[in-house]
Amino acid sequence: MSDGWHDECGVFGIHGHPEASNMAYLGLYALQHRGQESAGIASTDGEKIIFHKEMGLVADIFSEEILSRLPGRTAIGHVRYSTTGSSELKNAQPLVVDFESGSIAIAHNGNLVNAQELKRELEVSGSIFQSSMDTEVIVHLIARSRKERIEDRIVDALNQVRGAYSLLFMTRDKLIGVRDPHGIRPLALGKLKGEGGTVITSESCALDLIEADYLREVEPGEMVVVDSRGTHSHRPFLPAVERFCIFEYIYFARPDSIMGGTCIYEVRKALGRQLAKECPANADVVIPVPDSGVPAALGYSEASGIPFEMGLIRNHYVGRTFIEPQQSIRHFGVKIKLNAVRGVVSGKRVVVVDDSIVRGTTGRKILKMIRAAGAKEVHFRISSPPTCYPCFYGIDTPLRRDLIAATHTREESNTYLTSDSLGYLSMEGLHACVPNGSTTYCDACFSGNYSIPLETEEAGEQLPLFRASVRV
Ligand code: AMP
Repeated sequence: MSDGWHDECGVFGIHGHPEASNMAYLGLYALQHRGQESAGIASTDGEKIIFHKEMGLVADIFSEEILSRLPGRTAIGHVRYSTTGSSELKNAQPLVVDFESGSIAIAHNGNLVNAQELKRELEVSGSIFQSSMDTEVIVHLIARSRKERIEDRIVDALNQVRGAYSLLFMTRDKLIGVRDPHGIRPLALGKLKGEGGTVITSESCALDLIEADYLREVEPGEMVVVDSRGTHSHRPFLPAVERFCIFEYIYFARPDSIMGGTCIYEVRKALGRQLAKECPANADVVIPVPDSGVPAALGYSEASGIPFEMGLIRNHYVGRTFIEPQQSIRHFGVKIKLNAVRGVVSGKRVVVVDDSIVRGTTGRKILKMIRAAGAKEVHFRISSPPTCYPCFYGIDTPLRRDLIAATHTREESNTYLTSDSLGYLSMEGLHACVPNGSTTYCDACFSGNYSIPLETEEAGEQLPLFRASVRV
């Protein structure tokens, strides 16, 4: 997989606040779950754009002193998670560039599927790329546009890209938010009270932290322009079928965020209730894999009548930078993050609920740990269907050959995971639990239905090959 095409991210932008960069800092803090690799903030005082970005966590990167060097009433910020290959500062965002017509800062959540081919074309005609981010393609396309207004240049550029994008742009006097026509990745609009400013961000949990009101979602294909004249909505793209990422409901978004008008926590509980109906188990206790499995386990317990207990305790202080001191103790693995509560599981038939299985390696270790703590039986229940296909629209998933559900039958997976039984939620069950108004979803990670055609080399080479070898 080439560098930088697979990242999960969070974006936050604010216009019209006297402490815009402080607000962006708080917003990014609330979005930290969307990416822990690097973070950055760019602000403008109306004359120039200043930025700071580093590898690491938001709280470690920004100090009072750094934030004081980011003045102005408008700011955008970005948190990024990426695969190891592209874990470099040059790929951190926001991306800030100077054009002949001024400067612009860009923050991107999503993944473009034709970035490679556009990049090749741009390079042939003289563009020089400084990073391996697909976002840089958008920058070059904006720079080449013959249009005058920045909004028109952005539309010109985005009309040439395909894929998932929730984008924030900042110029000296504007904050612009754009969501791709399929609305794959989330983007929410909020407002601080009084003259406190307008916010565009990935998730509503960032609005809660700064006490901004959640107004609505930026709609698929919508461009929201915020400047001194107010907030204006534009529809510059051809309409497309909505394909909101269903995995945001399952795992990625924070449970206190609202998406599709519904609290993610409630959706996850409903997934757990549905799972209990579809995959019952004779058991004494239901335990979640914290944190991601907690709401679904509560739902499973509620619907099955089996008591809920916290049978696994998570150490919340384990960062990505944790270094195991010696080669000889490397095998501690998942125990560094989780430990089983002997008093809860010992002698019991245990249902373990998690939101998804990707490679299966974590699940196997967790189940072994629960059995080592004395559990009599261990039944693994997953509040999503088998993850059989990689995501090309912005969620980091491994290659198809590394997805256990794509390469093993249910029985083989059960044996590998060391569970007494293994149950996944059905596709119908999943769709019955997510908000069902007019939204249609991207569920390609489960179904292989990629709604935006994949034309990158990697996808083109991979999919036919792997489609032929599905064994689920
Ligand atoms: P695995 O050992 O690969 O099966 O890991 C499964 C765990 O990873 C589950 O507990 C999920 O909550 C979590 N997970 C699922 N998708 C992702 C993702 N895209 N990035 C990071 N963690 C994930």
